[in-house]
Amino acid sequence: MGNFKRTLITTALPYANGPIHIGHLAGVYVPADIYARYLRLKNEDVIMIGGSDEHGVPITIKAKNEGVTPQDIVDRYHNIIKASFEKFGISFDIYSRTSAKVHYDTASEIFRKLYDTGKLTEKTTEQYYDEENGQFLADRYIIGTCPKCSFERAYGDQCESCGTSLSPTELINPKSTISGNQPVLKETKHWYMPLDQYESWLREWILEGHQEWKSNVYGQCKSWLDSGLQPRAVTRDLTWGVPVPLEGVEGKVLYVWFDAPIGYISATKELTPDWEKYWKDRETRMLHFIGKDNIVFHCIIFPSMLKAEGTYNLPENVPANEFLNLEGDKISTSRNWAVWLHEYLEAFPGKEDVLKYVLTANAPETKDNDFTWKDFQTRNNNELVAILGNFVNRALVLTNKYFDGIVPAVGKHTAYDEETLAAISAIKAEIEKSLDSFRIREALKNAMDLARLGNKYLADEEPWKLFKTDQQRVKTILNVCLQITANLTIGLEPFLPFSMEKLRGFLNLEKYDWSNLGNTDLLQEGHKINSPELLFEKIEDSKIDEQLQKLMDARKMNEMAEAKAAPAKESVAFEAFGKMDIRIGTVLEAQKVPKTKKLLQLKVDTGIDKRTIVSGIAEYYEPEALVGTQVCVLVNLEPKKLRGIQSQGMILCAENADGSLHIVTPDAVVKNGSEVK
Ligand SMILES: [Zn+2]
Repeated sequence: MGNFKRTLITTALPYANGPIHIGHLAGVYVPADIYARYLRLKNEDVIMIGGSDEHGVPITIKAKNEGVTPQDIVDRYHNIIKASFEKFGISFDIYSRTSAKVHYDTASEIFRKLYDTGKLTEKTTEQYYDEENGQFLADRYIIGTCPKCSFERAYGDQCESCGTSLSPTELINPKSTISGNQPVLKETKHWYMPLDQYESWLREWILEGHQEWKSNVYGQCKSWLDSGLQPRAVTRDLTWGVPVPLEGVEGKVLYVWFDAPIGYISATKELTPDWEKYWKDRETRMLHFIGKDNIVFHCIIFPSMLKAEGTYNLPENVPANEFLNLEGDKISTSRNWAVWLHEYLEAFPGKEDVLKYVLTANAPETKDNDFTWKDFQTRNNNELVAILGNFVNRALVLTNKYFDGIVPAVGKHTAYDEETLAAISAIKAEIEKSLDSFRIREALKNAMDLARLGNKYLADEEPWKLFKTDQQRVKTILNVCLQITANLTIGLEPFLPFSMEKLRGFLNLEKYDWSNLGNTDLLQEGHKINSPELLFEKIEDSKIDEQLQKLMDARKMNEMAEAKAAPAKESVAFEAFGKMDIRIGTVLEAQKVPKTKKLLQLKVDTGIDKRTIVSGIAEYYEPEALVGTQVCVLVNLEPKKLRGIQSQGMILCAENADGSLHIVTPDAVVKNGSEVK
């Protein structure tokens, strides 16, 4: 690492059309937060920037579907996102948004400078235009038939049925989703960032100059560069966004990929009048924390923009993570397959650190990883409770019990005491080595070694066996344990900030900076500690089952939404249908067939007779609730013996997409025996 005086940490701007989920947290915000807290604890000059990305077509489409304005949509999600980050303890120095005025000004200024200095190229192309509404159509506002698979609702940029990338002019029978009309092609002028002109510079800067970047990041950059860069439009025809700051270009805005990363600069301006120090002073180190889907924007496109502008720093590192899956499936906002942060905070109050811990211990740093609720429970119960919580609790409880909560004097250290205390400094070096190379997951493991060290020491020394015979020795043992505990409040502070604050409260200890980690007399003899509560508590199966049930419900909803009607059967002559004798009847009695799950025995008045029918609907209806209900009965179905009961006919049911059965009943009371035809 070079000699830098300060660090600017940016975190990917979450898109304001949905709340934050664990995938966002594991990929970006938790590692960035740990790293920022670590630097702050080292008294370094660091700021961490965040904000909502509030432009782009998906937001305008969502607004249109809900009959509200785009501003309504972004206000809603910006507020949810901001509040959940705060509650979760992501320590942004500022969390801003791209609909802020300072951002409009900043993005316009940068566009203007690129335009004025000839860094942008101008090109006129033909694009689809909706004549009725008088507007050009973004790709997502055009649907038509996919030329590859004939799916009839393919979008102008992609067919969601076969996954092919499309351009709007490839669609067969294109239609505007706004008016429903066929759009016409019309000329429109746009400005482009000529990325092809930056290719050789990027090769040198990244492929030669930044070989220390994580292999997943470096590899993706190389593959983009190897396949050649194309000019990319920085403006588009849309009304929601930062207006293009030129004369006579109404209805054009900056493309969201262009304005969003500038949001980092705007937010810094909003934070401090000294913002240029963080962006332009060569002694500032800029780090972009992002997910892998953002690598091309932060390693290739945004640096090219900054390079073209000429006065800004380039990122020093881009420690991007891969994706986190959930219970074996891709996290999906539209399919509600996610653990939402605001819902987690409701369901697990006071357990912010538990989620941080699990997401870090299982972070998708070099490959995609899977979050499971079982693993969440196991890591809480077997690691946070059984290792960290258990050690701390025993050290504090024994001190309170034997010495009224007064830190006992240390006698002569044994060789084992010395070895144990010396290990703290060694662990400190390990944590630093891991954090300095963005191996945050490894760093957490290193920091937890402090608790493992304490646990092992206590188990080996067994002070409770010595108290009657050798109080002097017990004093020394507990002194060592308390020094380890005090060190935990420093070593684990970046990872578990809420819990370490709590622990400092138990110890009646001030907050120490990082340089004190390894110091073995943080607690002086005679210092009074408080009586402890539990640092972590076990998570019971029932809490986990609730969360799993929620996911199962979401899966079922998705299956229902995706289910397609079975194709029509072969046609039959009318006489064939006429052979079926279907009558309306009323259920007189109903009871479960013993020792079966699915079967109900019904007595039905069919108007012709009162007969017994066995029906497989027991999972969906309580017998009592059926009495008095009118049903459709196929009365001339040949009788059949089921579980020893003669069933005379069949009750007609609709089978829903989830397999559940629903009785077909007339919408008014009908005389029993009426024919259904
Ligand atoms: Zn297709």
